[in-house]
Amino acid sequence: MHNKKILTLIIAGALGVTGCNSDDNSPIITPTVELRVLETSDIHTNIMDYDYFKSKEDQTIGLARTASVIHAARTEADNHVLVDNGDLLQGSPMGDYMAKIKLEEWNGEHPAYKAMNTLDYAVGNIGNHEFNYGLDFLKQAVDGANFPYISANVFCKIDNCYDGKMKDQPLFSPYLIIEKQVTDTNGNNHTLKIGYIGFVPPQIEQWDRAHLNGKVYATGIVEAAEKYVPQMKAEGADVIIAIPHSGIGSTTAPADVSAENATYALTNVEGIDAIMFGHSHAIFPHASYADLPNTDIEKGLLNGVPSVMPGRWGDNLGIVDLTLTKTDGKWNVVDSRAESRPIYDGANKKH
Ligand code: MN
Ligand code: MG
Repeated sequence: MHNKKILTLIIAGALGVTGCNSDDNSPIITPTVELRVLETSDIHTNIMDYDYFKSKEDQTIGLARTASVIHAARTEADNHVLVDNGDLLQGSPMGDYMAKIKLEEWNGEHPAYKAMNTLDYAVGNIGNHEFNYGLDFLKQAVDGANFPYISANVFCKIDNCYDGKMKDQPLFSPYLIIEKQVTDTNGNNHTLKIGYIGFVPPQIEQWDRAHLNGKVYATGIVEAAEKYVPQMKAEGADVIIAIPHSGIGSTTAPADVSAENATYALTNVEGIDAIMFGHSHAIFPHASYADLPNTDIEKGLLNGVPSVMPGRWGDNLGIVDLTLTKTDGKWNVVDSRAESRPIYDGANKKH
């Protein structure tokens, strides 16, 4: 009898049984889902492993190389989604070439999307450099993406500023809630509503004044998050992934409302479950950030929020692993970790 009880407890533990249903005495199973979120950022038109300045192969850069790490990271996880943080369309001679000479001849199909469209991205975020060649080019280029774009803090200053958007309307969806079929640790299927929200430094107004002046304005990153994250929750998002094209910035609240780098400040916004950030071309988690307040570089937690910044030019893949359990009909993140995985040995020593 004693042994049988122990065996029952062991089985209950393996199934995630946490109690009994009072009506029929059947066990209540708490489903557990492991969700892996993958991120590319600051690719800067480094699609192939090729240095256009030197006209030769360079195995330390390029989305073609990151793709191998994406495939490997996917095989390790039952459930995964991939996002891009932005600063995609400018930064190598190929980017300038496509913007100024060849996009028309390619029927608008930018090579960045020709590559990315093979990788099953869930969403893309708009980086500051996406505005470098003007709004017409941006529209033509992103129309070639087979995944949607988000940006929560960029708005039209006039009617028809971008893609028929009217005054005070956002140029892109501020956020998206996308249903994802996932499998729990017992092999049962669930539909997870994953909310994605993206941000860009409001400094785009100055940096690309020639293209944006009188047409587009940007609001503060934290301000946009505080406006939209509760809305996402109200609309049923089970988990919220923030994708700020923004570095860590000030670690002391309150952050400057117009801060270029506001990722640490975003960790204080209630409801954000993971932050896939970028813009600074650095690596997080990384030993160089060990002294930041309330930061766990072993687990990749920034003020308790799993966060990752995967370098630049495709040299790293950002990975956040979330463990979610469902209690009383509500999914909660109960454990998490973050990792920036380099595409070649020793890559992150250079950062
Ligand atoms: Mn960049
Ligand atoms: Mg940037």
